[in-house]
Amino acid sequence: MNYTVLTLFPEIIESYFSASIMAKAVERSLVRYKIVNIRDFAQDKHHSCDDAPYGGGAGMLMLAEPLALALESAGAAKKNEENRRHTPRVVYLTPSGKPFTQGLAAELAQEEEIALLCGRYEGIDQRIIDLYVDDEVSVGDYVLSSGEVAALCVIDATYRLGAGVLRSESLAEESFAGGLLEYPQWTRPEIFMGLSVPEVLLSGHHANIRKWQLEKRIEKTLAVRPELIERGLAEGIFDAGTRLLIEKVKSSVGDDRNRTDDLLNAIQAL
Ligand code: SAM
Repeated sequence: MNYTVLTLFPEIIESYFSASIMAKAVERSLVRYKIVNIRDFAQDKHHSCDDAPYGGGAGMLMLAEPLALALESAGAAKKNEENRRHTPRVVYLTPSGKPFTQGLAAELAQEEEIALLCGRYEGIDQRIIDLYVDDEVSVGDYVLSSGEVAALCVIDATYRLGAGVLRSESLAEESFAGGLLEYPQWTRPEIFMGLSVPEVLLSGHHANIRKWQLEKRIEKTLAVRPELIERGLAEGIFDAGTRLLIEKVKSSVGDDRNRTDDLLNAIQAL
């Protein structure tokens, strides 16, 4: 995967690419990156990159000209140009974009090259969006002071899905995989501050552990993100055992906690 980040703050982006698993992925050439300092393309002697918006309103806007030159230096072509096959997919980070989800991360991870445009001030001149931007993407329903942290969210969520970065087993049961959140987990010691690791995890009975973990995924998802369950049911992504377990967990919400054996038996009887 090739990332180009267009920013007024190259140092924020550089520090991310130089640390931890990402640094190793860069070293192994699984990830390539380029940082374009938008200010290098400013046209006046003060290196200005912003000006007041037409029509008034609070704050400043990023100027179109430095942004267009910076994008073209990164190989981006205008959307109406015919030969766009080898241009990066241009993503502008903005709170008014479509939500960034695991699904969109998986889609972007398929791209050979992404250019991430980081805004600042009140955002950017609309003509840059009209001319160059393929996707306007928001990382959440809140307003950040600039786009670098949002760009790093997109980079982080996409590069780890690329071949060779992580083991595929690590990805298979993560939150959002298969439409559910992850199950809770414990590590040593067995008892910590009076709290024990659940018995089933110490049993060595792998089938029971898998079923228990699935139940916990469903419980957690129903409790904090019920819309994920409804979406998964509507899209038909759950198998029969998972659907049965969902129904049972739903109907037992509020019951006492002694239902686990019944649920496991019901699944075993399928
Ligand atoms: N005036 C803009 C609005 O109300 O939508 C907010 C501009 S914000 C202060 C400056 C920059 O931060 C934006 O241009 C964008 O690049 C970035 N940004 C802020 N919140 C974001 C979010 N939730 N997702 C993605 N980018 C965001």
